[in-house]
Amino acid sequence: MPDDFLPLTRPDISEDDIAEVVDTLRSGWLVYGGKTQRFEAEFRKLAGAEHAVAVSSCTAGMHLALLAAGVGPGDEVITSPLTFPATANVIVHAGATPVLADICADDLNIDPAEIERRVTPRTKAIMPVHYAGQPCRMDEILAIARRHGLLVIEDAATAAGAYYRGRPIGSLGDATVFSFYAIKNMTTGEGGIVTTDDAALAEKVASLRNHGLDSNAWNRYAKEGQPFYTVTEPGFKYPFTDLQASLGLGQLRRLREFNEKRTRLAALYGKLFARLPEVETPTVRPEVESNWHLYVVRLREAGISRDAFIAALRERGIGTAVHYLPVHYHPYYRERFGFGKGDYPVTEREFERLVSLPLFPLMSEADVERVVGAVEAILGEKRR
Ligand SMILES: *Cc1c(COP(=O)(O)O)cnc(C)c1O
Repeated sequence: MPDDFLPLTRPDISEDDIAEVVDTLRSGWLVYGGKTQRFEAEFRKLAGAEHAVAVSSCTAGMHLALLAAGVGPGDEVITSPLTFPATANVIVHAGATPVLADICADDLNIDPAEIERRVTPRTKAIMPVHYAGQPCRMDEILAIARRHGLLVIEDAATAAGAYYRGRPIGSLGDATVFSFYAIKNMTTGEGGIVTTDDAALAEKVASLRNHGLDSNAWNRYAKEGQPFYTVTEPGFKYPFTDLQASLGLGQLRRLREFNEKRTRLAALYGKLFARLPEVETPTVRPEVESNWHLYVVRLREAGISRDAFIAALRERGIGTAVHYLPVHYHPYYRERFGFGKGDYPVTEREFERLVSLPLFPLMSEADVERVVGAVEAILGEKRR
């Protein structure tokens, strides 16, 4: 592998971020302290929500949001087949049944008409996934939810700082869950957060993240806090630490700058790819502001399979990925829920030809030119 390997993505950690983490280490308060509270307050502003509860991951947050919303055995939850398995896994963890609804071919997000078709008397919630950082058709989804009395719990793992009709993701559904995993647009290493306007839901998530205790360590040990706590319901250990919060505060401050840089690089990709008819560049719908978490292209009569294309890029020192192997292709979901090939034709067709190219704020314009040049060379060889 060449030593100038260009990865798919890489986090941007500043010296200020590092200093803030060191400051926390020296403070003697590592978990659920002042910095976590500050981080939650700052994130609430970004998301335009009344409450924000930080947890150990987006997966943990989605699990707790479903439980807090009362989703359980006998319920069905509708989500997209084109997502990271965590989305479907948490539905199973809550004891409910995942129901998949096919996607739209333009933005690869869940198709509201397909959701509508899958609603049954057992449907309890819809979990839209904002694919690649581009918001779903939320007006249509919220209207379906209202009509059928369903909850909307968004998998916004990749959508921090994205907007739908000028409104921030985090302010739309009943609960929205974000990820701060190492490769997301802002990171705390591992981490996630649940935003909601529902005070009872927020309180329940906060309790369930910490064993189901009615009081957290902050209250317990603070001067005016009570010296005991009680379990109201057996919860989980899905903590967020002040170490994560200290990294997150700086990342959150720079999120807009990160997303703007991604947007500029994506525009450059689009301009340069215009001369390659075999490369279909991402469609961004006019009513949304994507945060460009991923730059996903689709091959069009390229004379080369997607997998061979990935291997050829790798030989040229360029990292890529496929987002995602559809949920209904995973053996567990096939066997347990009887999903099979052919069930979701749009997802299946688009999955075969999509590939994510490098995109991250530390990338230069020259890096983008290098990727496009490599793609052009690979496709050129096929044309001859
Ligand atoms: C990353 C991701 C997750 C999982 O987030 P974690 O914080 O790692 O739990 C869930 N859904 C989607 C769509 C993701 O991209």
